[in-house]
Amino acid sequence: MEEKNKYKLQHDRPNCIGCGACEAVAPELFEMKDDGKVQLKTGKEAGNGIWGLEILEKDFQAAKDAADSCPVNVIHIIKTDTNEKIV
Ligand code: SF4
Repeated sequence: MEEKNKYKLQHDRPNCIGCGACEAVAPELFEMKDDGKVQLKTGKEAGNGIWGLEILEKDFQAAKDAADSCPVNVIHIIKTDTNEKIV
């Protein structure tokens, strides 16, 4: 069955304080870089430091756990079809 309900995962990298919490709960999505901030492993930077990655339902829980773990709330999840901001 084809997966539905795509989401956009966003990471405001300039405001990441590099605590590593998101990488600890979702290492498949985030990895720490040499500059001391995490980065979306397969995302794209939009030109303003905000990284984005389209994710499927199967990755939603990991993304949500990462967003919930972030002490400075720089990880967001947006539902693609409705633009509803979930986190
Ligand atoms: S949890 Fe937030 S502040 Fe910590 S590394 Fe991840 S994005 Fe950066």
